Order: sequence, then structure tokens, then C-alpha cells
Amino acid sequence: MQSTLTAGFRGFIAAAVATWGAARAGDVADIRPLVAAARQAGLRVLESRHLALVTDRPDRAGDGVADLPRIFDEAFARWCDHYGIAAAAQRDWRGLGCLVVNPEAFRSAGLIDATVPAFRNGCSAGNRFWLADQPNPAYRRHLLLHEGVHAFTTTVRRLAAPEWYTEGIAEYLATHRLAADAAGVPRFEQTPIPARTSDVEQLGRIESLRAAAAAGRTEPLSRVFTAPVGNHELAAYAASWAAVAFLSGHPAHAPHFTAAERGPLDERFTERLTSRPGWDAARVARDHAAFIAELDYGYDFERTVIDWSPGKPLTAARQIAVAADRGWQNTGFTATAGPHCRFAATGRIEVGRLEAADGTTTVLESEADGITLRWYRGRPVGRLLVAQWIDDATGFRVLATGAEGEFTAAVPGPLFVKINESPGGLADNRGRLEVELQPR
Ligand SMILES: [Zn+2]
Repeated sequence: MQSTLTAGFRGFIAAAVATWGAARAGDVADIRPLVAAARQAGLRVLESRHLALVTDRPDRAGDGVADLPRIFDEAFARWCDHYGIAAAAQRDWRGLGCLVVNPEAFRSAGLIDATVPAFRNGCSAGNRFWLADQPNPAYRRHLLLHEGVHAFTTTVRRLAAPEWYTEGIAEYLATHRLAADAAGVPRFEQTPIPARTSDVEQLGRIESLRAAAAAGRTEPLSRVFTAPVGNHELAAYAASWAAVAFLSGHPAHAPHFTAAERGPLDERFTERLTSRPGWDAARVARDHAAFIAELDYGYDFERTVIDWSPGKPLTAARQIAVAADRGWQNTGFTATAGPHCRFAATGRIEVGRLEAADGTTTVLESEADGITLRWYRGRPVGRLLVAQWIDDATGFRVLATGAEGEFTAAVPGPLFVKINESPGGLADNRGRLEVELQPR
């Protein structure tokens, strides 16, 4: 998690000194002498194709530590995919990870020397990394993979990019869940946006971003791009992760981000990204603000793309449809601030399913008032919401909710509608509401 070492690492033992003496942060060092030194010192060494994991943690059945090198290899293949690198070209890449309970055991074996800073979570240099052991297996795995991404990107991609990208991509590529295969073996599955809290115990990034939003402290993307992350605050990591997740996931911006990522990951990375032909800085900033405001587990990028077009003035009664399986939808009509507007909604939609203990499933149906059985962000799921985008700092302001009523436009601008639902819960919704808008 902490800053990557830029200086070469110098091991204590003679063989390692020869290897590391001239090493730079981006070099892949031969780790064999260090693995031998670890064994000689009585440390446990767990090996896979891409990782030698050294630990002083006692062998405990069921703690998942023995699975870590295999899971690292599975993640490594996904990291290659992310950068469009043929895995065969990195067949011989090997990292050395130290899972540390007592740093003294690693110091005396020559695996931690004076160039390794004191770390609370972890740090990396070239293809070596260190992490403090964690009581929570999911968080231990996450940290191992986070530092592993640093080791991968600094060596394979010679990454020396601004901090938001360096830390953001490490968080992004480390985020995963374990899914048992047919034989019951837990396999690495990358989850760009975690589907549920239980998959990412102790991460707390989505909660941190929500708390910041509730306190009016959401960072605009331009600030995330320039803010230092090195203060180890959860909020800074969360904002960096969210920026990378947003740029990788949003259908309109992902092609630019991917193209930039295939180029040099140097100190000018942000500049290269934001000066690409077709990069619409105003739209990116607005889409990012909307993403942060709506962010939740299982966030569905495809169903939440927002059409920001200004639309036509609302001068007479109009019928619009509101899809139950999409986020904010542009009505195609612009309201002028001030005069009242009436609205009335009809129709029934499906907003999910209820699994009973006996295995039976009930489809949850809703009208425009929503269902009181399930709530989201303080309102019944399925309830019609009418809103306007105020500005990037304020976001959407809900003007009216429910099956019918009146509202006054807050700004001259397009009217947006959706049904109240978590962005992770849209995929199983069906149907649409018909809404009449009547200016007065
Ligand atoms: Zn880091």
C-alpha cells in the first residue's frame, strides 16, 4: 500500500548483494538466492510459477495461506489480460513476496534490509514485496495481490505514473472474490466493482466514498488526478480505486483509458489520457460525479450510462416511458426553472425476486409508489423519482417521487427519471412505467 521503493534493494547475503546491487525498481531480479536464504533461516516458502511466498506465519490448517501462490498465478493471468500482454511472454516472471508476522525474522535472513521502509500494510520494490500478516483472510489476500500488482506493473510495464493511477490500478486489479470451481477449489475471480460486502471484508472503500459524499466531501476527478495518495488514508485509496474503476468501466470513457494504459505508464500518463482526441473533459467529470453519487456494490455500468443531451422545451403535455432496469433516464424534455409541472405515472414493473426458505421464488412487483417491503437510500424500491442535475458538486436533486404530484424545476435543464433501486439490482428488473408530464 505504501509508496513503492524507487531505490535499488540491497540484500544482506552475498549472492543477493550481487543481484540487487545494481537493481533498479523496474528490474526483475533473480529471487533464487533470497529463497535459498529464507529456507536456510527456517522460514516457510510456498511456491507457484509466478510467486515465491516466504512467511514466518505458523502453518495453520484452513487459513488459506497455502492457496495464496496459486491464487496469485490466477490473478497474474488477469493482469496480463488487462494490459493486453500475452501470458506466454511473462512465463518466467517470478516475484518474491514476504508475508510478515515478525519483521526481525526477515531482517536476520536478509529479506528486509535498511532500504525497506517500516510498513503498516505493505510495500514493494521491483519484483519483491512485503506485507504485514492480517487476521482476516480476505484482506490478507487483497493486500498480497495489491502489492503483487505493484511488483507486476513496475517491472513488466515500467510503471512510474502519478499516484492516483499507481494505487488505483493496484486496488482495481487486486479486487476479487473467490469462486469454487467444479472440484470445489477456490479460484480467483476479478470483480472490478465488488458484488457484495462479504466478498471484500475490511476493504470499506464503497462505504468510505459514501460517507464522504454524505458529508459533501466528494473529490472531483480533476482533484483525484492531482492529489497525493501517499498519506495512506482509506479515502485516498478509495478515490483512486473509484477513478480507475470508473475509467475502466464506463462504456464512453473506457476505450480512451485502455488506449492510454497500453502506452507509457510514466509521469505524463494523466496528461496523455486527458489530451486524447475525443476526450470530453466536461462529460468525463460529470459522469464521474454521477458514478460516485450512485456507487454501490454490483454497480452496473451498462445500465447506468446517462444521456446528458439538453432535450426539447417542455411546453405541452408529454408521455414518457421509464424503464425499470436502467438508472437515470433523460426524458428528452427540458423544464424551465420556476413554473409547476404535474406528473402522473401508470403501469406495473418487476423489481426483483424474493427467495423463501423453502426454495420458492416470488416476483416482486411494484407500481410507481414503490414497495414498502424493500427500501433503498431511504425510499421504497420501485418508486418513481423525478430529478434534475444541478451541477457536478451537487449532483442530481430529486424534485418529486411517487405515482403522481407536482414539482418545480430547480434549474433550466433536462428532466431525468428512474425508479428507486440499487444500481446493482437493476439487471433483474422488468417492464416500464408510463408517465405523463404536464407543464402548468
Ligand atoms: Zn500500494
